[in-house]
Amino acid sequence: MNRDHADVIIIGGGIIGCAIAYNLTKRGVKPLLIDTAPTVGTEASWAGAGILTSHASTHEPYPTLCRASLALYPALADELRAETQIDIEFIQSGTLSVFFNEAEAAGLIGLADRRVKRGFSAEVLTAEQAWQLEPALSKSIAGGVLFPEDAQVRNPKMVTALAKGAAKLGAKFQLGNPVTNFIREGVSEDARVTGVVVNGETLYADTFVIAAGCWAGALTAQLDVPIQIEPAKGQIVLVEAMPPPFQHIVDGLGIYIVPRTDGKILLGATVEYVGYDKTATVDGAKQMIDAGIAIAPELAHSTFVQTWAGLRPYAKKGPLLGYLPGYDNIVLASGHFKNGILLAPITGQLVAELITSGQPALPLEPFQPQ
Ligand SMILES: Cc1cc2nc3c(=O)[nH]c(=O)nc-3n(C[C@H](O)[C@H](O)[C@H](O)COP(=O)(O)OP(=O)(O)OC[C@H]3O[C@@H](n4cnc5c(N)ncnc54)[C@H](O)[C@@H]3O)c2cc1C
Repeated sequence: MNRDHADVIIIGGGIIGCAIAYNLTKRGVKPLLIDTAPTVGTEASWAGAGILTSHASTHEPYPTLCRASLALYPALADELRAETQIDIEFIQSGTLSVFFNEAEAAGLIGLADRRVKRGFSAEVLTAEQAWQLEPALSKSIAGGVLFPEDAQVRNPKMVTALAKGAAKLGAKFQLGNPVTNFIREGVSEDARVTGVVVNGETLYADTFVIAAGCWAGALTAQLDVPIQIEPAKGQIVLVEAMPPPFQHIVDGLGIYIVPRTDGKILLGATVEYVGYDKTATVDGAKQMIDAGIAIAPELAHSTFVQTWAGLRPYAKKGPLLGYLPGYDNIVLASGHFKNGILLAPITGQLVAELITSGQPALPLEPFQPQ
């Protein structure tokens, strides 16, 4: 890369942009990553809960993508620790999903069956068995299902580690100002994007990646490609209790509870389609706290720490990964919605393979931006 010409410019320094930068540098490509914020990972990738689960969907090939990404985590965690000295706290804690009535039991047992058919384990538990595993669970639960392969990660640490790992291998970062414009050269159908404008300066590259989370649509609109990616607000409440009440991630009553090793416990999350509004509301916090206490009454005595909201990038047909229609040097990687932390390793790998060899290890056609 010379002063203002990069091999690849990545727009967006969330977990997706940083995973792509990391994977490109591993293949000898030195990208320039640009983000509006003064540091990487300040938006959804900071706000997320860091749960890594692959039972989110029944529509292939999405579960295959989730599974492939989860499988990359153990080696990636080791690699990042060795290269950056950052422990991303990948822990295979498992999820214990609890039910309070027959209807909830039927739903969860159906989910367990589907998951077992895809090669994962799931164990249906009586209430007594669930209390044995997690004594802090409410005496009102009727039972639970254990998903032992589920894991968690500290997403803010992971974004930092990916960025640091990429920087060590030659990636550059231009932080603190947004990309405001694209530079096109040539005429009509032969026009090609050759650069982007940041703070009045033009930066050139051969290839561009739009990894701007829920803001990606505003960038593709400038290229006359309307892509529907909406913000889906999620609110989280953070409390603290020592010793931690749970070993497993616990979910039920529409929320999840994530115990961290440092005694902090996340209660999340709402899903709200209210535009680009990141207000953390009393009502949002109340929903999380009420459900949390119904699942584990002793949470009422935990210390309240903080509440926040982030904007998930929601795309109706799942993540959009591939060349933007009409452009052979602009890749879109966005729309990961509730699973962007889970999907970051495989997204980074596949987009890097697409750019460097044109041959991603999994077919990207089903995720092609339309
Ligand atoms: C409350 C909550 C809980 C979640 N829990 C989980 C979970 O448990 N597990 C999971 O897998 N996922 C979870 N997610 C989803 C996950 O966090 C997201 O899918 C993921 O972080 C999306 O990453 P991203 O890099 O695409 O977007 P972001 O992290 O939003 O990054 C986009 C970046 O693009 C930058 N940008 C935007 N426009 C421009 C521009 N014009 N120029 C330059 N830069 C620009 C922004 O500043 C931002 O840094 C959760 C999300 C939320 C909000």
